[in-house]
Amino acid sequence: MYEKQIEQLVVLQKVDDEIILLEAEIDQAPKDVAALESRKESLEKRKQQLTEKLDLLAEQKKKLEHEIEEDSVKVKKSKSKLMLVGTTKEYHAMMREMDSLEKLNRLREEEKITVLEETERQTELMADIEGKIKELNEELTEKRAGLKEKLDAANGELDKLNKRRNKAGEVVPKPILGRYEFIRSRLAHPVIVPVEDAVCTGCNIMIPPQEYNVLQEGKQILSCPNCQRLIYWIEHIPEAAKPKALQKDEK
Ligand SMILES: [Zn+2]
Repeated sequence: MYEKQIEQLVVLQKVDDEIILLEAEIDQAPKDVAALESRKESLEKRKQQLTEKLDLLAEQKKKLEHEIEEDSVKVKKSKSKLMLVGTTKEYHAMMREMDSLEKLNRLREEEKITVLEETERQTELMADIEGKIKELNEELTEKRAGLKEKLDAANGELDKLNKRRNKAGEVVPKPILGRYEFIRSRLAHPVIVPVEDAVCTGCNIMIPPQEYNVLQEGKQILSCPNCQRLIYWIEHIPEAAKPKALQKDEK
C-alpha cells in the first residue's frame, strides 16, 4: 500500500512536470505572435511618417517648379522689352531686376536638387520598410496558422495529462495529496524526492538517523525536515531514480 502510494505520487509528479512544460508552451505561443504584431505596428507607424515626409517633399518640389517657371516667364518678358526702353537708367533697372530674378531661380534650382536627393533617400527607406513589412506579414500568417494547431494539440495533451493526474490522485490518500498540493504551490519542483544514502536529493541535506530508519521501514509518507518535500527511500522505488543511478555508475 505504502509503495503504491509513493509510486503514484512519483507518477503524479511526472505528470505535473509535463503539465508545467505544456502550460509554459501554451502561455508563450501567443506572446510570440503578439511580439511580431507589435513589431509590425511600429513599422507601419514608421511607414506612415515616411509617407507624410514624401508628400511634403513632393509639395516642396511642385512649389519650387512653379516659382521657377513663373520667374523665368518674367525674365523672358523683360528680355523682349529690353530693346524698347528709352533711357539707360531704365535699362539698368531692368537688367538688375532680371539679374535678381535669375539669381533667385538659381537658388531655387539648388534647393530643388536637395529636395530630389532627400526624396530619393526617403524612397529607399520606404522600400526597405515595405520589404520588412512584407516579410513580417508572411511570418505572421505562418505563425497565426501554426498557433491554433499548436494550442489545440497542447490543450488536448493537457486534457489527457489532467486525466492521468486525477487517476494518480485517486490512489493517494486525501491528506497526503493535500500535502503534495500544498508543497507544490510553495516550492519549486520537484515536490517528492528520493532519499539516497540518508541524503534528501531535494535539498542535499542529511536526514536524521531516527527518521531515516522510519523512512526505510516504508510505512508512512514523510517530509524532509529541512526542505519539507515529500521523501521516500530510493530502494523502495529504484526505477524512479534510474537516471541518477546511471550518473553514479559513470563516475
Ligand atoms: Zn530536503
